[in-house]
Amino acid sequence: MRDILVINSGSSSLKFAMLGLDDLRALDDFSVHYQGQFSGLGGCQAHLVIRDGQGKILRDDHFAAIDDLYDHAAALKDLLKWMDENTDSSRIRAIGHRIVHGGRHYRQPVRLDEGVLDDLETLIPLAPLHQPHCLGPVRMLLTLRPDVPQVGCFDTGFHAGQDPVAQAFALPRRLTEAGLIRYGFHGLSYEYISRRFPAYLHRPETGRVIAAHLGNGASLCAMLNGVSVASTMGFTALDGLPMGTRCGNIDPGLVLHLLTAEGMTAQQVGDLLYKQSGLLGVSGISGDMRDLLESEMPSAKEAVDLFVYRIIREIGSLSAALGGVDHLVFTAGIGENAAPVREMVSKGCEWLGIRCDHSRNQRGEIRISEDGSPVGVWVIPTNEERMIAWHTAHYCH
Ligand code: AMP
Repeated sequence: MRDILVINSGSSSLKFAMLGLDDLRALDDFSVHYQGQFSGLGGCQAHLVIRDGQGKILRDDHFAAIDDLYDHAAALKDLLKWMDENTDSSRIRAIGHRIVHGGRHYRQPVRLDEGVLDDLETLIPLAPLHQPHCLGPVRMLLTLRPDVPQVGCFDTGFHAGQDPVAQAFALPRRLTEAGLIRYGFHGLSYEYISRRFPAYLHRPETGRVIAAHLGNGASLCAMLNGVSVASTMGFTALDGLPMGTRCGNIDPGLVLHLLTAEGMTAQQVGDLLYKQSGLLGVSGISGDMRDLLESEMPSAKEAVDLFVYRIIREIGSLSAALGGVDHLVFTAGIGENAAPVREMVSKGCEWLGIRCDHSRNQRGEIRISEDGSPVGVWVIPTNEERMIAWHTAHYCH
C-alpha cells in the first residue's frame, strides 16, 4: 500500500487528500483515508473541514490569524500538526502537488527539488494568483519532510501537445519562440474527465468532446478522443471565459487604454483584471454563482447572462476547432451543481444539436441530454486530487 498526500493549493484555498493505493491499474482504485479543505486563506480567519472516506466530518474548525493574516503557510503547518496527532504520517510514500503553470519546459509530472522550484518560480508573473501558493507548500515540505519525494503535476501539461496553430498568438515570431503562446489550464481536471468518460460511453473512443470546467476559475477544452485540441485559456489563466473575479477574454487595446488614458499602473490593472472583474465586477455583489442565482438584483442576472453568453460563444468556437461536437460535459462547482446555468448554456447551443432534458438536468443525472439528442450532454464530477495521486504514484513506482 502506498499512501499519497495530495496538495491542491488555490488562490484562497488549500485542498488536500490522503489516498491509498494497492496497485496502479485504475484511477478509481484509490481509497480515500481523509480529505479536506482550508478556505478563506489570506484573510483574518480561515475555515477547515476534514472528512473521512465516507464523508463523515473529522474536524470542522475556524483558525484566526495570530499576528498578520492566516495564510497558506499557517494552514499547512496546522494540517501537518493534525496529521501528526491523528494519523500515521510515516505511511506517506510521496506528496503530489497541483502546479498551475509548467511553462514550455514542464509537460510531464516531475520530482520537485530546489532547482525545479527555482525554475517554476520564474513563471509566477504568468499565474500570480496561483503559482506562489502552489510552490510555497513545496518549499515548506522540502524542509519539514525532506525524506518524502514530492511530485509536481502541471495544469498546463495536458494541453502541451496541441497543434502549434492552436497555441500561437499572431505576434512576431521571436515572441512565440520565446514561449509567449497559449498554454491552457485546468489540465488535470480535463485529463481526469478524458480518462473517466470512456466508461460512461462504454467505448474507448469518445469522439469530439467539449468539456466545460466551470468553477471559480472557468474554461472550456475541446478534446478529440481524449486529447486536448484547443482551450479557451491562454498565456495566463486570465483569458477565455469570465470567472469569479477574473475578466476572461478582453480586447488587449483595453489594457493599453487603462495604462495610458486612465493612467493606471500595471499593478492596478492586474488587480482589476484578476480580482475585481468577472462575476464579481459585473454584478457588484459577489463572484460566487450561488449568491448570484439566489439574488433578486438585476445586476446579478446580468452577470449570469454574460457568463452564459460567453460560454455559448466559445462552445461555437471550439466546435469549429473540432469540426463538430459529439458530447458536451459539464464539471466543477458550477458545472456540477448549477442546473439553471447548464440549462441556459444548452438552450443557446440547440443549433449544434444539443438538447438538454429539463427533468434530468434538474435531478442532476449523469446524462442530461434528451433521448435521441444528436449531442450527448453530461455532468461528470471532476477529481483533480485523484489525477494528481495517480500521476504521483506512477512517478514514484
Ligand atoms: P469550484 O471552484 O469548482 O469549487 O466552484 C466554485 C463555484 O461553484 C462557485 O461559484 C460556487 O458558487 C459554485 N457552486 C457550488 N455549488 C453550487 C450550487 N449548488 N449552485 C450553484 N453554484 C454552485
